[in-house]
Amino acid sequence: MKNTNVLISGAGIAGITLAYWLRRHGFSPTVVERAATIREGGYKIDIRGAALEVVERMGLLEEIRSMRTDVRAGSVVNAAGKRVASMDGDTFGGRVHGDAEILRGDLHRMLYERTKDDVRYVFGDSIASMNDVADGVEVTFASGQTGVYDLVVGADGLHSVTRAMAFGPEERFLRDLGHYISIFSVPNHLNLDREELTYIGPGRTALTYSTAKDTDAKAMLLFSSGPLSHDQRDRSQQEQILHDAYAREGWEVPRMLDGMAGAADFYFDSLSQVHMERWSEGRVVLLGDAAYCASPASGQGTSLALVGAYVLAGELAAADGDHEAGFEAYEREMRAFVDANQKLGPSNIKQMVMRTKGQVRFSMVMLSLISRLPGKEKMLAKVVAPIHKAANAISLKNY
Ligand SMILES: Cc1cc2nc3c(=O)[nH]c(=O)nc-3n(C[C@H](O)[C@H](O)[C@H](O)COP(=O)(O)OP(=O)(O)OC[C@H]3O[C@@H](n4cnc5c(N)ncnc54)[C@H](O)[C@@H]3O)c2cc1C
Repeated sequence: MKNTNVLISGAGIAGITLAYWLRRHGFSPTVVERAATIREGGYKIDIRGAALEVVERMGLLEEIRSMRTDVRAGSVVNAAGKRVASMDGDTFGGRVHGDAEILRGDLHRMLYERTKDDVRYVFGDSIASMNDVADGVEVTFASGQTGVYDLVVGADGLHSVTRAMAFGPEERFLRDLGHYISIFSVPNHLNLDREELTYIGPGRTALTYSTAKDTDAKAMLLFSSGPLSHDQRDRSQQEQILHDAYAREGWEVPRMLDGMAGAADFYFDSLSQVHMERWSEGRVVLLGDAAYCASPASGQGTSLALVGAYVLAGELAAADGDHEAGFEAYEREMRAFVDANQKLGPSNIKQMVMRTKGQVRFSMVMLSLISRLPGKEKMLAKVVAPIHKAANAISLKNY
């Protein structure tokens, strides 16, 4: 097989899953991650449709099910903390057909544990420059180390440096959805046990959740805003943005903001999508959010990463390592699946953040009514039907 020496930039869900499948097909991947260790943060995420098949083929489905969040109930609360609408966890989370819900960090750790003995990981470093050389790519890292690789995969997320180097500045590819998201651990002041609470204010939503296994709770803040100029690497600036955005909100929000400073797993980013005409250029190819971020609003970012990694590794192997044929087939297999899932982002966000006080009031009344209807499960299943259609919009080959 050709081109077995592959450099992957980014040890996220996409990068690690790709490393796993490349190893299984006989490649030798190296993963370089800018952070000092894997970034285990994040809220709970769903693995649906084709992605369930991928984790099953990795032998991870049982473990994922054993680590399920086991959410029992979801409620919408008002500013005084009163539960105005409550449903069972599956109905509230729109889970059907055996979808698996797990904390993103638990899945990330599981994937890393599965690969760490077979894959070379380099933490605390990143690609500083790339040059095409005969039959390869010469890479210089920020640490000053250099190496020549047959192929380079950019799995380094929404703000991919690999994409910027091979395709151009991110402004050309990012589509802003007009919102920001932050996720971090907070003390479990409310003593939540497998229950999720959602507070909806005008333009600002706040959620909190805790599993039985966690001593902490997770907080998620989601607010509408035009583009903000801030430094991606400056956490204190991002915390200030959140303090300003949520200054007038009630309920548990002030305590969430107080707890934010102590969180080791703070995450903040815009809700944006990546749209590109091509995902490869020469010996460089993009994967996951770097190539086709659908945004957390789609609920499908992790599933896209898992499926994309499986398909990219599989098509490269099927092409006997020929990158031109392999990359072309990866794109051909994935394009419609990506399009279907990206369409979910802009429509879902309208149900997650209400623009005006009137909309908040209306949605509270509606949710309260729906939560009391006997046939609510069927009604909500219709609402999530588009997600399930998109999650299954690909037939996986057996590579
Ligand atoms: C800490 C964290 C929490 C998240 N929480 C949620 C959530 O709760 N819900 C949700 O829907 N989505 C969340 N996401 C996004 C979600 O993980 C992705 O949409 C999806 O899993 C696809 O992952 P990815 O591997 O393509 O990108 P990412 O998950 O963004 O992973 C990219 C990886 O590349 C690394 N990296 C970045 N730049 C460089 C560089 N220059 N060199 C080397 N490495 C680099 C990053 O540190 C990261 O580990 C989160 C992402 C992160 C990083």
